[in-house]
Amino acid sequence: MSYDDNNIFAKILRSEISCKKIYEDNFVLSFYDINPQKKIHALIIPKGKYIDLDDFSQKASSEEIVGLIKGINIVAKKLGMSVDTGKGYRALANISEHGGQEVPHLHFHLFGGENVGKMVE
Ligand code: AMP
Repeated sequence: MSYDDNNIFAKILRSEISCKKIYEDNFVLSFYDINPQKKIHALIIPKGKYIDLDDFSQKASSEEIVGLIKGINIVAKKLGMSVDTGKGYRALANISEHGGQEVPHLHFHLFGGENVGKMVE
């Protein structure tokens, strides 16, 4: 499967569709999920064209990988849910078909602002 340039997050990265931006740097963009599942529901995506976490792990540069992992912490801090600014959160990536991934551009969901409950219902 090749990267689909017309997926919704690719359009957000090209500013063809707006988003409620939380944070941006050279490696990542973070914005609020349009359909929040918890009190705080943010998304963070790499700026590069990666379909999912497997694709990213195999093809991304070390700088991009560090940028995404560090970006998660920066966003969690900004939203007051990191371990030093809050009470923690859940970072979750759905991967492909069995993972229930809908948008084919790698993204981590960041859930918090409340106790987010059991991981698998
Ligand atoms: P996933 O099922 O892991 O692929 O999650 C895709 C997520 O993207 C869902 O939680 C959607 O609510 C969210 N989403 C879809 N379109 C947008 C959008 N335009 N802006 C923000 N979030 C979106």
